[in-house]
Amino acid sequence: MDKPLDFELDKDGNVARKRCRRPSCREMFPVEEFPRDRRNKDGYGSICRFCRTKDMRKWRKGHLARIEKNREAVIKEHGEEYFEKQKREWEESRPWRRWSIRTRERLYSSGLDVSKITRAEIEGIGSAAEVCGICNQRLDWTDSTAAKKGPDTPILDLPYSDTVVESERVWVICRGCYTAKGGRTLQEYVAYCMGISDRFSEWLHGISTPEDD
Ligand SMILES: [Zn+2]
Ligand SMILES: [Zn+2]
Repeated sequence: MDKPLDFELDKDGNVARKRCRRPSCREMFPVEEFPRDRRNKDGYGSICRFCRTKDMRKWRKGHLARIEKNREAVIKEHGEEYFEKQKREWEESRPWRRWSIRTRERLYSSGLDVSKITRAEIEGIGSAAEVCGICNQRLDWTDSTAAKKGPDTPILDLPYSDTVVESERVWVICRGCYTAKGGRTLQEYVAYCMGISDRFSEWLHGISTPEDD
């Protein structure tokens, strides 16, 4: 008997369906059921997303058990207060972590597709952002609590108003600019600002150099 095919091509010769490489699975799925992976020629990974989800659950279970074990050991040796203090200090030294969790949650619950961006990628983008992409003001990373929302609180923004969030198409701006920009694309927002600038430039010019009149 012939070995079953690992790929099915569409009429244009692109891979339409492929077989999951995991021996316990070996199912054929449409390529969309595989995570994107640029290292593969067809642009998709070798393990289907169902197997990936199972892996993730298994990893988390083991990981949480390890964290709990570590927590108990530290508390036993140094006490609960010490443990809480250490935890707080560790979290404060990495504000991007909590920011990335909240950001991904916010994007997801506003109906955007976040399957193409990981939490770690968002954290990386945050930790590299010192100033607002629009106004160039320094971003306030010290405020990592959701409750306090100052104008220089960093926000991950989609300058092209995409519905799919991708790491190459996002940037970090301050809350002040985010609010002013509203739902506009960056292009629309710049046009909007230029309209205001045109309308008030003479007035502004009059104020700044009154001796010209
Ligand atoms: Zn699979
Ligand atoms: Zn700004």
